[in-house]
Amino acid sequence: MSPVLHSELPHLVEMDTGPAPHDYGTGRRCSCGTKLSRYNPGPLCWRCERAQLTADAKAQVRAVEAKREHVCPVCARKFTASHGQVRYCSDHCRRIARWKREQESRRKRRTP
Ligand SMILES: [Zn+2]
Ligand SMILES: [Zn+2]
Repeated sequence: MSPVLHSELPHLVEMDTGPAPHDYGTGRRCSCGTKLSRYNPGPLCWRCERAQLTADAKAQVRAVEAKREHVCPVCARKFTASHGQVRYCSDHCRRIARWKREQESRRKRRTP
């Protein structure tokens, strides 16, 4: 029985454990204070990430709801606004509305 030579020992260090996950380092924290896993590539913990996804979905629903039909106060044409702050159907009508406002304020200034 011959003694086992050192060079014949299996390379324990190179044991096959599959591809190692990327290590993003420890000591990182989510904005909520939760310690992040060193394998978490994002800036959020899984709980905040899920909350973020829910918030995104809600925002999307809100964006769709905001696309309501408006009536242009200048030409009375119906139009769909992409967001809540649109009041006129076009730049043309917005300019007319502004011009009207200016005329109005000019008249007021003339007759105090
Ligand atoms: Zn968090
Ligand atoms: Zn219009």
